[in-house]
Amino acid sequence: MSCIFCEIANGNIPSSTIYEDDQVRAILDINPASLGHVLVLPKKHCTSLLDPAADEATIHAVFEVAAKLARRMDEVLKPDGINLVSNMKEGAGQTVEHLHVHLIPRYTDHPEMDTLVLSNGSIDKPDFDELVSLLKAD
Ligand code: AMP
Ligand code: ZN
Repeated sequence: MSCIFCEIANGNIPSSTIYEDDQVRAILDINPASLGHVLVLPKKHCTSLLDPAADEATIHAVFEVAAKLARRMDEVLKPDGINLVSNMKEGAGQTVEHLHVHLIPRYTDHPEMDTLVLSNGSIDKPDFDELVSLLKAD
C-alpha cells in the first residue's frame, strides 16, 4: 500500500525539508495550523506510536529531532509557546497513517498566525485511584 509520508520521508516526493538524517525527515506542514508548523517523520513506516513497528530506535530518533527543532523554532521564530502533538488514530484527528510529530508554534493574540484551538475545559473529576491502577506502567 502506498504511503505519502513514506514517499516524502524518503525523498521520492519533494517537500519543504528543514532537517534530514538517515532515520528522520522534518518538513513544513502543507496546511499549517500556525506560522512555522513542522512535521517530524521517521523514514521507516509505522502507523503511529501505537504501532509495535514504532520501535525504540525510531521513537528516539523522532523525538530527539523534535526537541532539537523545537529549540531552533523557539530561537528563530520567537513564538509565545510551542505545542508538540502526535495524533494516534482517526478518533484523535490522525489523517495520515504514518507516524509523525507536529511542532506547532503558538502566537498569543495573533489569530492571523495561529489557528490552533486546544480545550481549556475539564471533565468532571474522575476516580483517580482507579485510573492509576489501570494506567500504571513499569
Ligand atoms: P494528522 O492529522 O495528525 O494525521 O496530520 C497530518 C498533517 O499532514 C496535516 O497537518 C496535513 O496538513 C499534513 N500534510 C498532509 N499532506 C502533506 C504533504 N504532502 N506535505 C506536507 N504536509 C502534509
Ligand atoms: Zn509510511
